[in-house]
Amino acid sequence: MSLTGKARVAGVMGWPVGHSRSPALHGHWLARYRIDGTYVPMPVEPAGLAQALKALPVLGFRGANLTIPHKEAALAHVDRVEEGARRIGAINTVVRATDGSLTGHNTDVSGLRAALAEAGVAALDGRPCAVIGAGGAARAALCVAARLGAGEVRVWNRTADKAEAVTRALGVGRVVAELAEALEGAALVLQASASGMDLGAAETQELAAELTPGLQRTSPEAHVCDLVYRPRRTAWVLAAEAAGRRGQDGLAMLVHQAAEAFRLWTGARPDAVAMRMAAEARTR
Ligand code: NAP
Repeated sequence: MSLTGKARVAGVMGWPVGHSRSPALHGHWLARYRIDGTYVPMPVEPAGLAQALKALPVLGFRGANLTIPHKEAALAHVDRVEEGARRIGAINTVVRATDGSLTGHNTDVSGLRAALAEAGVAALDGRPCAVIGAGGAARAALCVAARLGAGEVRVWNRTADKAEAVTRALGVGRVVAELAEALEGAALVLQASASGMDLGAAETQELAAELTPGLQRTSPEAHVCDLVYRPRRTAWVLAAEAAGRRGQDGLAMLVHQAAEAFRLWTGARPDAVAMRMAAEARTR
């Protein structure tokens, strides 16, 4: 679709950003809803983040998404932060108001909840949950674990200090020293670290084989949700299946969090058909 001078412009800031699927998703929806607009990738180095965010209203952008490594740092460079995002301590969406001010939102939480609901996970009713990781995605996962009513949230991260800092900041979860301890009897596993991301086929199989015994320690009805969505069949999903558990990759969350950002910028909420088409377009 060709653009007019009134086109709405948004995009994604990351470093690197070349891997991002967001331009494909948003481009798909802009075309589907015949919106005069575009969504562009913006490679922004950490040192340039403040300047890049300040430039958004100056350049007439509707807003932007933020991806690795900007989600936490961006909080300091917007005018307002929506309450839920402030509690989490990370923003993944910035919306420009008519007066040019910027508000930070976190659509990862609603995206993850919607993805879990799609997989039939609605409430934990006091059962234990394991959260893996301690970055921006883990903050969202901790918030979701608490909202689902987990009895105990065990957090394991490659770097324990970071897990301590995140659980302290959010007031959710208990840090454990070993991955096996986190997984023991867990009804829900939220894999929110970059473990397995972008691995080749052989390395994915190797990691899956390493992870399988640990996942066999989870509850037999456990749901294992890996927030990673590249490769298409992730090591954690393969390991969950090998352990006889239900595995879900991060694609549904990716689509749901993007749909909420799209609504914030355009007022249009992609419907279920558009969501599925976008997911299919993404996996081609
Ligand atoms: P981040 O803030 O940079 O944090 C990265 C986390 O992953 C840290 O806990 C880090 O541990 C850990 N990590 C990095 N490499 C690892 C490895 N090889 N093995 C084990 N742990 C490793 O990133 P993020 O924003 O939280 O994103 C984490 C993952 O979630 C990414 O793969 C991202 O694509 C995915 N994600 C998906 C969605 C979605 O919509 N599906 C949304 C957000 C994020 P250390 O603390 O030890 O460095």
